Amino acid sequence: MSANCPVCGGTTASRLDEPLAMPILMNRIYATPAEGKAAALGPLEFVACPRCGFTWNLAFDPSLIVYDEEYENDQTYSPSFRNHMRDRARDVVASASADTPVVYLEVGCGQGRFIEEVIAAAGERLQSAEGFDPAWRGSEATGPAGSRIHRVYFNKDTASRLENKPNVVATRHTIEHVPDPVGFLSAIRDALGQDSTARLWVETPCVEWILQNRAMQDFFYEHCSLFTASSLAFALEKAGFASPRVRHVFGGQYLWAEAVATGGVQPGEPVASIHEPLHKVRVDFIERWRAEIAAASEEGTVALWGAGAKGVSFAILADPEGQVIDHVIDVNPAKQGKYLPRSGLLVVPPAESVSRKTKTVFVMNPNYFDEIAATAREVGLNARLVPID
Ligand SMILES: [Zn+2]
Repeated sequence: MSANCPVCGGTTASRLDEPLAMPILMNRIYATPAEGKAAALGPLEFVACPRCGFTWNLAFDPSLIVYDEEYENDQTYSPSFRNHMRDRARDVVASASADTPVVYLEVGCGQGRFIEEVIAAAGERLQSAEGFDPAWRGSEATGPAGSRIHRVYFNKDTASRLENKPNVVATRHTIEHVPDPVGFLSAIRDALGQDSTARLWVETPCVEWILQNRAMQDFFYEHCSLFTASSLAFALEKAGFASPRVRHVFGGQYLWAEAVATGGVQPGEPVASIHEPLHKVRVDFIERWRAEIAAASEEGTVALWGAGAKGVSFAILADPEGQVIDHVIDVNPAKQGKYLPRSGLLVVPPAESVSRKTKTVFVMNPNYFDEIAATAREVGLNARLVPID
């Protein structure tokens, strides 16, 4: 990616940390431990713009990213995550003025799980719901709950496939994968047409949450573009969306921004934001968790709960030789029986961890702690649960 800030054009980006190699695809799963261990690595070289706070991976190369059917990131098996999606769908529907039907468009809709939530939240008010995603696995222009999903990127050319002119648009967990985020938002703005007054919603991780919580397991190769609240607002205005409002959701981990398509927006000045250098934070993080898992292993089997990107990077940072952690628990059936990149750890359902006599479980996302504790009780997993906080 560019050495100049892709959001504000600032020229004084500072390096957050020494380069670090991480799997290119954190949510790719493998059939054997050997294939997992051989997963391709890419460098993380995060830099931050002091002028606007935007943070990006200087070494990111989009040509290395190939999503295929072994890429599995469905989080909707978790009740907490489903509640979060339901709340966001209600926000989306409530933002369409009460006297108009809801004409919904989603950019980067995956397999349409959030489209379903919006359709449910809109009820009678829904006129149509359409999505665009090149990774859509169904037939062209079909989708769940009567929606239509198009297996292409959304832009000026493909916008002609829309049945109705949208008045509410959302793009969730997509912009952080894009090396030119202002170009991405501008392409949405252009494709909506100059007369559009649609409301746009954007959900993406908050880099300030990651830094404040010293969540060193939250830097991923795929997430090349990380926003602060103010740099996301600035990017929206630069792309032609007015009155951006950004709030934090999902325990502060995500930004949830809304803005309105309009003609001729003058972006204000970006808000300066200095991130502290991270090298020592990462070294301390690794030292602390290596010591904790080593101590736990004296008492018996050690497992992680959460085979998503956080679990993949935590295993690599805290157990690089793969000799202490025994397995990873996850409720997503598509991940169970498969192996994770680089650590080569096996993913098992909660009940199987019982037969492995697990004594300590490190919980990857504190947001899921209560539901994980409940599931552990249900399956009779009598282990100490330790949140990574
Ligand atoms: Zn900047």
